[in-house]
Amino acid sequence: MPRFEAVDMEAVKKSVQTGPDARASLEVGLVEKAGDRVTVRCGACQGTGADRHTRGHCRACGGKGLVTIREPALRCAYCRGSGWQPHKERLGCSICGGKGVVTVKEPFVQCAFCQGQGMAVSTKLPCYACQGKGVVAVKEPLATCPSCQGTGKSNDARLPCHACKGKGVVTI
Ligand SMILES: [Zn+2]
Ligand SMILES: [Zn+2]
Ligand SMILES: [Zn+2]
Ligand SMILES: [Zn+2]
Repeated sequence: MPRFEAVDMEAVKKSVQTGPDARASLEVGLVEKAGDRVTVRCGACQGTGADRHTRGHCRACGGKGLVTIREPALRCAYCRGSGWQPHKERLGCSICGGKGVVTVKEPFVQCAFCQGQGMAVSTKLPCYACQGKGVVAVKEPLATCPSCQGTGKSNDARLPCHACKGKGVVTI
């Protein structure tokens, strides 16, 4: 019998929501909240509505400077909210479509495999485990993954743990 270590979901959620980057910085760009939708400042143009490369309309927001997405919304981990593909700054972010924010399914935890970075460190490609969002949807109740002890990594650290698919936690 593997010994499961119960996970305090409230603490996990709190750490995600109050993490240095996620919701805290999303709040900065929050313009309006209506029902299950939030309107935030567009990441790619930083609210100006202009494409910073072509000076035409920003494609991510259609020139409005604002984007509306479904809640719960988090800052896109892969592009860090910039709306641009990391290291290929002329391409829009493939994860958030340039908005700088993504909708996530609740409940979620920070991706253990990439530690919320949304990126595979070696390749700079979107993290396989969380598809670049930096968080992964989970089903409660949760326990620390007994195979990887919560690291989300397999023996080959470049690959996510098989048992938890990189989440670091498993549903009991
Ligand atoms: Zn824009
Ligand atoms: Zn993005
Ligand atoms: Zn990840
Ligand atoms: Zn695991």
